[in-house]
Amino acid sequence: MTGPMFKQVALIGIGLIGSSLSHAMRRKGLAGRIVGHARTAATRAKALELGLIAQAFDTPAAAATGSDLVILCAPVGACGALAASFADALMPGAIVTDVGGVKGSIVRDVGPHIPKGVHFVPGHPVAGTEKSGPESGFASLFDGRWCILTPPEGTDAAAIAKLKAFWEACGSVVEIMTPDHHDMVLAITSHLPHLIAYNIVGTADDLQTVTQSEVIKFSAGGFRDFTRIAASDPVMWRDVFLNNKDAVLEMLGRFNEDLAVLQKAVRWGDGETLEKFFTRTRAIRRGIITAGQDTAAPDFGRGQTKS
Ligand code: NAP
Repeated sequence: MTGPMFKQVALIGIGLIGSSLSHAMRRKGLAGRIVGHARTAATRAKALELGLIAQAFDTPAAAATGSDLVILCAPVGACGALAASFADALMPGAIVTDVGGVKGSIVRDVGPHIPKGVHFVPGHPVAGTEKSGPESGFASLFDGRWCILTPPEGTDAAAIAKLKAFWEACGSVVEIMTPDHHDMVLAITSHLPHLIAYNIVGTADDLQTVTQSEVIKFSAGGFRDFTRIAASDPVMWRDVFLNNKDAVLEMLGRFNEDLAVLQKAVRWGDGETLEKFFTRTRAIRRGIITAGQDTAAPDFGRGQTKS
């Protein structure tokens, strides 16, 4: 590549995803300059100290000024107001994108604020950890992981191609789909698993008969893997459920039906149903490993931990 892909990239929100994007961009020299805005002075100062951005701005509009790529990396529920506040500062030909885990609400809340002549291409890197904040990012977060773009109908093809190339240079494999399809797929692959994890950890915490220390002591029996997911950022996940209500409720309905089948099989000692079900699900795990989306190492590659 000759020269950076973008002259100036503005990160609006500099947490796990924003900071990882900074690392990934700098790894490949994708941006001439990276600037940013975050809500608090503490995060802005930390981002500067870590070298994630060359300049921190108090307002989203100041960060967007002169940027040919603006990336919203804040919780989904905050993106509409952020877009409204930087809309007038956007330069013609700039691309505005986001990284939110819900896409329908982003199109609804951000889209109307984007001026004519500016390209709006929503996106979602399907990669993350349970950590938050500017210190938690790392350059390889997106390597080999999907990034889904959901451009509204009529979006400039060159802008889509440029953002696709950008994510590929960050390490991702890019797929394009409609916002509604994205929200339905992610409801089952991401949103429901988080809801279940939050719920099971909450239930265990509520149990009066099992002491807290026993829950922790015997956690390697399976519970521990749920606690990792249930440690994810509360605000980010609150916004995901508030903004993908219909698809999550649809998947939750199906989940409850299947759970009732398993519940009945357990009650009636129906081993055949249980074994058949568990055999089918084991094949899905194998498929994920074959697709390179997780490691086959025992204990999720954690190594020998004392349980
Ligand atoms: P995070 O680590 O909690 O960082 C959020 C950032 O947004 C912080 O810099 C925060 O600033 C800033 N922010 C919050 N509200 C703001 C506001 N009103 N105005 C300006 N800045 C604001 O979160 P994250 O994990 O990077 O998630 C960010 C987005 O990425 C979310 O939309 C999420 O859906 C998406 N995503 C997350 C993951 C994941 O695994 N975490 C994966 C894929 C996509 P302060 O620190 O100053 O409050």
